[in-house]
Amino acid sequence: MRVAVLNSGSSSIKYQVIEMSGPHVVASGMVERIGESEGRIVQHDRAGEGSQGRITTKCIPDHATGFALLLEGLADIGPPDAIGHRVVHGGEAFRQPARIDASVLETIRSQEPLAPLHNPANRIGIEAAMAACPGVPQVAVFDTAFHQTMPPEAYRYALPEELYTEHRIRRYGFHGTSHAYVSGCAAACLNRPVDDLNAIILHLGNGASAAAIRGGVSVDTSMGLTPLEGLVMGTRSGDVDPAVHAYLQRATGMRLADIDDLLNRRSGLKGLCGENDMRAIVERRAAGDERARLAFEVFCYRVRKYVGAYAAVLGRLDALVFTAGIGEHSPAVRAGIAGHLDALGIELDREANEKPGPMPADVSNPGSRVRILIVPTNEELEIARQTVACLAAGPGREST
Ligand code: AMP
Repeated sequence: MRVAVLNSGSSSIKYQVIEMSGPHVVASGMVERIGESEGRIVQHDRAGEGSQGRITTKCIPDHATGFALLLEGLADIGPPDAIGHRVVHGGEAFRQPARIDASVLETIRSQEPLAPLHNPANRIGIEAAMAACPGVPQVAVFDTAFHQTMPPEAYRYALPEELYTEHRIRRYGFHGTSHAYVSGCAAACLNRPVDDLNAIILHLGNGASAAAIRGGVSVDTSMGLTPLEGLVMGTRSGDVDPAVHAYLQRATGMRLADIDDLLNRRSGLKGLCGENDMRAIVERRAAGDERARLAFEVFCYRVRKYVGAYAAVLGRLDALVFTAGIGEHSPAVRAGIAGHLDALGIELDREANEKPGPMPADVSNPGSRVRILIVPTNEELEIARQTVACLAAGPGREST
């Protein structure tokens, strides 16, 4: 069975076609600059790593044209058997993936106020794919769904009741597909069933979040109503005093939209040291750059605080798991976090951390009570697996 995984943004559609027996990637690429005067189609025959792929430029006025071009490029491998769509926000309506029909599409549309930058683009991508491949079953897989198991004490803000009941203001959490995939791999590494896994997953990329996993399900996570809350990220502040909006507006006359932009695009590592690429920050820090040192310390300190909090939430902790660009590739950041947690029974093997070997890797001291794992994430494969599982389960399993 071949599953095409689509991630539609406002001006791009990224895709992978995965052959599930294996599994392996048979084609991947992206259509980008949709709506601009010169669009680009980048296609790889396989996973695309290490090669630039075939690049074609063409006017791509809308997502429907983009999707048609994408299908044209896949003509030699034929149409997929199923399509899995990444959808950022499922609100409280979706605890699981959903096979897409008119009513599911309408429910996805009703979540748009919660993710005005992402969900409309995801929906437009779905509509283009449905129109182009009417006979192919399509499934929506939500970034928020994995965290719908959080209990109210973790997801409610201490705000007036009606903000939750009328405006749906609560913590939702994101990166759920990654946290789900990595939890499964971590359980396999530890040779225990996933429903017996207590772990803290650290998804540290340009966007970053921590999740507390008890018995294989999410019981807390650091992102909230939006992906701005929690850890320090590439350009996002993570946690700040919510009074910062009012203060800035009073002190500088800034508009709310500009403050939102400042917290989302000009803060985080970039705000602290002018750079959001952790590789460059690690190099600058090693060369004695003070701003890079501070950015690195603030990043690691925030993660350590969340690990302490989630260790308290979980009681028993089996594993601390690093994933995503920084988590998988930066020994310095892993040491900056896990090298200071001996009091929690988390003891890093510093040599193994520098040279972890084949992935997934265990980089804890043999005597460490808690295993420290590095697990490469694979959101596309998880979406493909959830698509297959959703279709196999048939109607009734799908929504809410
Ligand atoms: P992601 O969003 O998961 O693609 O991760 C992107 C982040 O990973 C960027 O901040 C990169 O600087 C970081 N990254 C990738 N490779 C390395 C590396 N070798 N060392 C440090 N950071 C890295």
